[in-house]
Amino acid sequence: RTVYLNGKWLDEADAKISIFDRGYTFADAIYEVTAIVGGKLIDYPGHSARMQRSLGELGMVCPLDADELLAVHREIVARNNVEEGMIYLQISRGVDDRDFVYPKEMKPTFSMFTQTKKVLENPYVKSGISVISLPDWRWERRDIKTVQLLYPTMAKTQASRQGADDAWLLEDGFVTEASSATAHIVKKDGTLVTRDLSHVILPGITRASTLDLAREAGIKVEERPFTLEEAKEAAEAFNTSATNFVLPVVSIDGQKIGDGTPGPITKKLRDIYVESRLATAI
Ligand code: PLP
Repeated sequence: RTVYLNGKWLDEADAKISIFDRGYTFADAIYEVTAIVGGKLIDYPGHSARMQRSLGELGMVCPLDADELLAVHREIVARNNVEEGMIYLQISRGVDDRDFVYPKEMKPTFSMFTQTKKVLENPYVKSGISVISLPDWRWERRDIKTVQLLYPTMAKTQASRQGADDAWLLEDGFVTEASSATAHIVKKDGTLVTRDLSHVILPGITRASTLDLAREAGIKVEERPFTLEEAKEAAEAFNTSATNFVLPVVSIDGQKIGDGTPGPITKKLRDIYVESRLATAI
């Protein structure tokens, strides 16, 4: 693969970052993941806007302007001939002696790579995924998309060791999110329920698009906390995320959701999400 690092196009084996990089010592870095379908970027404006927001919350500035940022996204797809997959972008505060206080003058480390993945023909769309519930032991600024992802990796590993596909995380009895996706349920009356935005969840770009499309399709949407019990009693459940789009959840802690197969509203939302995002991909 050809990767991008601080203004240079390099073979992945030649892309090196200092052990003094604050992304490495403090997880002092933000990231974004954008899906690619047909060589085009899905929901790019949302991802670049959230990247700017994450940087702003941490007092960092993107080393590239908006035109340059889009240009490197396009170029990395072209250089790697990616038809379907994702772009991973990371910006750390940069390299300096280890000190908890942010140094005043920093030159950010900007890196980007691609990964191929079957985004449209995801086998889990037909089967749905199983999740287990686990406590949400992440920090409380989950609205910032930082690389501080150790707990989500622990949670997803535990789910995998127990034969499940993902974890839904719980705080005070309420579902916050999946380990790396937004969690949603559909009530028996067809209402979509999803956690309201605050510092305890990431403002998912796929979440925002899916809620807009749901409302346009006449589906009632409630943005509020929901409990694990309400989720288990729901007619349908699903995750949203950049590279999985809308992904059915068919069991929680071994209990079937609805009849244990992907639900009709979930399927419809995936279909309209895919259709509208392919039409607006750039
Ligand atoms: N919540 C968490 C914790 C995530 O890591 C992600 C990212 O994949 C999401 C939600 C979904 O966000 P997006 O739809 O922007 O990919």
